[in-house]
This record gives sequence, structure tokens and C-alpha cells, in this order.
Amino acid sequence: MTGVTVVDHPLVARHLSVLRDRTTPSGDFRRRLSDVSMLLLYEALGDLPQRADAVETPLETTDGMRLATEIVVIAILRAGLGMTDGALRLVPEARVGHLGLYRDEDSLQPVGYYESIPDYAEDAEVIVVDPMLATGGSAVHALGRIKRRCAGRLRFVCLVAAPEGLAAVRSAHPDVPVWCASVDRELDDRGYIRPGLGDAGDRVFGTE
Ligand code: URA
Repeated sequence: MTGVTVVDHPLVARHLSVLRDRTTPSGDFRRRLSDVSMLLLYEALGDLPQRADAVETPLETTDGMRLATEIVVIAILRAGLGMTDGALRLVPEARVGHLGLYRDEDSLQPVGYYESIPDYAEDAEVIVVDPMLATGGSAVHALGRIKRRCAGRLRFVCLVAAPEGLAAVRSAHPDVPVWCASVDRELDDRGYIRPGLGDAGDRVFGTE
């Protein structure tokens, strides 16, 4: 699918296998999710704009570079919190926003219950993170909210995507490229991704 990059790397695949394993304890799950998030964001941010900036080494002046734009990471609560630490290890100067959404039982539509997004410049690079792209409802809603606040250049990074979720995001937001470690087979009738890894939020926070 255009605009979708499945990161094909042995280290990513190894982390994903451990994350899928039902016997992986919560502490290991959290650390692995952070580590694999670093790798996914590393791939997703390969085209960040740079600007030349001279650097004084202890011996002389040489060519250096800096990131040319502000970086903002926005986590969709709650599972997205499991990816922010990895993102910040990669880009420590990034600012972090949070979007909390729940699904209304009657309308089945996502409803925002919390929003804390820093003000950022129009040319900022904005990375929205959520480990599981299932129906795509939350991601589509979150990207819409973020666009209404301030455009920036948006990217969506997840760990596992369902084909249905990818189709929903790409159809509603064709300007937002998506990175993931795997496109899994399907969504089941409870909205879980199969084979998936279960409820990512429960596994990160040990609330199963
Ligand atoms: N959210 C999860 O955490 N897991 C799924 O399989 C689907 C949505």
C-alpha cells in the first residue's frame, strides 16, 4: 500500500516476536517496546530536514549539522506511552503531547477525554505513536484533531497494523505516511489484531 512502510529488519522482527509471546512479563514487554520504538522511529525519521552548522572540536572548526525543525511526538493514550521513552532516547529534544481517546459504546466512535499538545511551528515534524493500529478509528480521529490545531508534517508510527486500520488511515489522511513492524492478518470480532500481541496497554502497564 502506498505511504505504508513495513520496517523489515532482523532486530525489529526479533523484538516483535518477544513482544508477541504471551509469556513475556510486563517489565520486559515495556523495555522491548521502548527499544523497538527507537528502531521504528529511526527508520521513519530518515528524511528529517537538516541545516549546516559549524562545530568547534577541541582542535579546529569543522562542518556539522543540526535538525532544521522542531520535533513533536504525540502519544495516543494509553498504549502510546509505551513508545514515548524510545522516541525520546532517539530525539531527546522532542516535545511530547498526549491525546486520550475512548470508544463510545453506543456510537462506537472515538471520543476525546484528554488533550495536551504543545504549541509548535507550522514546519514542525510531528510523529504520532500508538503501538496497535487496529480499526484505525483512534488514529484517524487523533490525526484530525492534530491537523485542526496546527498542521506540521505528520507521520504515524505503530508496531503492528491491521489491514483495516491501515486502509482507514490512508483513506482519511493520505498525506500521512505510516511505519510499522508488521501488517497482521486481520481484526477479530472483538477488535483485536490477529495474531497480534493482545492488549498493548495492558501488557505495558501489567493490568491484564
Ligand atoms: N489494541 C490493542 O492493544 N490490541 C489489539 O489487538 C487491538 C487494539
